[in-house]
Amino acid sequence: SDSHSNTVAVQATNDDASASKLSCVKKGYMKDDYIHLFVRRPVRRSPIINRGYFARWAAFRKLLYQFLDIDKKTDDGGPIKKQILSLGAGFDTTYFHLQDEGKAPYLYVEVDFKEVTSKKAALIETCSQLRSKIGETASISREKGEVFSDHYKLLPVDLRDTQKLSDIIALADMDTSLPTFIIAECVLIYLDPDSIRAVVGWANQTFTTAVFFLYEQINPDDAFGQQMIRNLESRGCALLGIYATPSLKAKEKLFLDQGWQRAVAWDMLRVYSEFVDAQERRRIERLELFDEFEEWYMMQEHYCVAYAINDAMGLYGDFGFS
Ligand code: SAM
Repeated sequence: SDSHSNTVAVQATNDDASASKLSCVKKGYMKDDYIHLFVRRPVRRSPIINRGYFARWAAFRKLLYQFLDIDKKTDDGGPIKKQILSLGAGFDTTYFHLQDEGKAPYLYVEVDFKEVTSKKAALIETCSQLRSKIGETASISREKGEVFSDHYKLLPVDLRDTQKLSDIIALADMDTSLPTFIIAECVLIYLDPDSIRAVVGWANQTFTTAVFFLYEQINPDDAFGQQMIRNLESRGCALLGIYATPSLKAKEKLFLDQGWQRAVAWDMLRVYSEFVDAQERRRIERLELFDEFEEWYMMQEHYCVAYAINDAMGLYGDFGFS
């Protein structure tokens, strides 16, 4: 059916993301000792695409570290436990880096379609580099697309079913009162508008002390936006959510309407120039010859970072872009 082939095409966008990240790593934009394990056919991307992925990666890392670095003690004086929940995680490797950096949270949970989690589970099982990061006692099932370890869990779920999402996070032993960083990178935009609202509303009702990080497309209506949509459609992939939240204001409204306390959305042009560290920008801007500025500005106006906050514990006063 149409909806089945769209699902297959959406899953394939994950391979595309992994290949682009590897392209950046090879050019020196960022370090990732694991992404090559997930890419079968390496490709070289254009300087614009590399710079775009770098901007996304840098913004994500900076916000994630702000969250991880929040220092809060529990009543008995120990550091508070934190959690990360990655929705549509694909082959994202953040967990493995955080392990290397000694920054991994108490619990890191990734979910995606079973077709994707099965492949990831198989790779984790067979690559000693990955396996050693999740611990010897881990149980891994390729058939079920599951990994259970003390601090890392990978589970299959269709995000459009929020009842199942609740079951899955219970199965993963998440504590919904703990500070939780929820990641949705290029994921919600592939869902229909009702499902997007359902996921955002579910997250609001489930987590009382949370940051919801979103990165995805905006501005479908101009020529560049139409081209962006056609490019994906030509690969069988529909950006079902983009007309429901076509602007920065609409992304913020999505969260606020679903009950989140605060929400902020910036386009990537602004994120790159005002939030990504100047020193990092100078470093990567020397890596490749770059003269397509018109195109770069246009592309960056069509992606955004939004974050929403629920702050029952009063942790996030200093969190965010400024
Ligand atoms: N978040 C990863 C990243 O940024 O590299 C992967 C992004 S990839 C473009 C989109 C991912 O969302 C795919 O892995 C896809 O399988 C997943 N996805 C899309 N719709 C989903 C759904 N309804 N349920 C679970 N996963 C879904």
